[in-house]
Amino acid sequence: MKKIAKAWFCRFLVLIFLFCAGTATCVSAATDSIQASADTYFALTKEKQTAGKAAQTISAKAPLPYAIEYPVIGNEVIDQKIMETVKQIQTAYEKLYAKEAEEATRNHLRPKEIAALYVSYESYLTEDGIYSVVFHGSYGKADSSLFFTKYKALLFDLNTGETLSWEDVFRPSYKEKASAYAISYFTGQEEYQNRIFGDPAVTLGSESGLFDTFALTDTSVIFYFDKYAILPASCGAPTLSVPRETFSGSYLTDPEEILVPKQPDETETKAEGRTIDPNKPMVALTFDDGPSPAATNRILDTLEKYGVVATFFDVGYRVERYPEVTKRERALGCEIGSHSYDHKDFKTLSAAQIKADHAKTNAVFEKTIGKTPTLFRPPYGNYNETVRLNSPYSLVLWSVDTLDWKSRNAQSILSSISSEGNLDGKVILMHGIYDSTAKAVEQLVPSLLEQGYQLVTVSELIQYHLNETPQKNKVYHYGHFQP
Ligand code: ZN
Repeated sequence: MKKIAKAWFCRFLVLIFLFCAGTATCVSAATDSIQASADTYFALTKEKQTAGKAAQTISAKAPLPYAIEYPVIGNEVIDQKIMETVKQIQTAYEKLYAKEAEEATRNHLRPKEIAALYVSYESYLTEDGIYSVVFHGSYGKADSSLFFTKYKALLFDLNTGETLSWEDVFRPSYKEKASAYAISYFTGQEEYQNRIFGDPAVTLGSESGLFDTFALTDTSVIFYFDKYAILPASCGAPTLSVPRETFSGSYLTDPEEILVPKQPDETETKAEGRTIDPNKPMVALTFDDGPSPAATNRILDTLEKYGVVATFFDVGYRVERYPEVTKRERALGCEIGSHSYDHKDFKTLSAAQIKADHAKTNAVFEKTIGKTPTLFRPPYGNYNETVRLNSPYSLVLWSVDTLDWKSRNAQSILSSISSEGNLDGKVILMHGIYDSTAKAVEQLVPSLLEQGYQLVTVSELIQYHLNETPQKNKVYHYGHFQP
């Protein structure tokens, strides 16, 4: 954010607007006059000050009188940052004024008459607590023939007090979407279409640097363009409100597509030649809580015997203990998902703890099988928004619960599955650490094959049954895994 603030600081200039009630005499530095002009100026954005309470600071003191309006939101950290920004804006104008005065003296000219500095703002607060403040500055001279308007936008997370930049809100792809929208909008408006500087595709291109200054509302993203940035001065400093849906897939909170290679990339996988017929019924067996040298290997023996695959949601600390078992799962073409490092209830963890657990578990997988999982099954199936947003995987639940951990009985596991009826598209939950489960699998696999089911991994099921690439931060649950 520092960088952006600095860039703005440099780019941030001025607008001259004379809100004179009557004649040129209104440039008087008298407080009354400043106050009257300020009231007019502040009124321009009143309706767009939708969050926070407006506060003012007004001074009639030479050489640069000022009238500044800024919001107070009641969050100490954020209010402090807003005040710092106000101070920066003021200093920038003072420097500008001093420079102009110096130049005038050097050229033996009378310093240009300055009316005053006016600063006001728009503010918005979204449902998820993102607070946008956009300052407008105006540098009013007696001679109104020359004027500039620039904007300075600030974004805050009201939940944490953090200052946000576009990288905290969007993926880079948002700029392409904003650019496409802006090009179509400005070239489609009669008042703008033939007046845009240069080639609109370049001037309004995604690389133009124009799309860093924005405010977020619940329904739109508003972009602010400085005067002269894209259009002649007579067009003012335009804003562009783009519907939020335009950016679907570009918000950091949106599910992200994970690219899953259609062909397993390991040459040693025995299942390499396996083909999946999307039109034939398919089912995914999943085994949690392993690996275990006895039960998991017995399950793997069955899978190997029939040349089929399953998905193992392995626990990090057990992978460290029994790496050979996880390596064998991989070698047989099975999918390996994460089931956390040591099976904590993720609903009780903070965002930082969740991230740390994933980092630790990923390192174990990276070391053991040379890659990190695409899928995560939260222990106990427990998750909330914090878990979802801080888990850089597809979150995978199930649609058939065999309760194998409870019954520890092969027959009751088998009957819980057969009582489900049509298994096409279903994900069956079992555990890879019980001998009773391994025993059930010895009958289950040939039985499913006889019934015409293809045994696929969970990623394959999402790809071929749901017709989508597994998405990051998306929860695949009971409702997804149905015929
Ligand atoms: Zn578990």
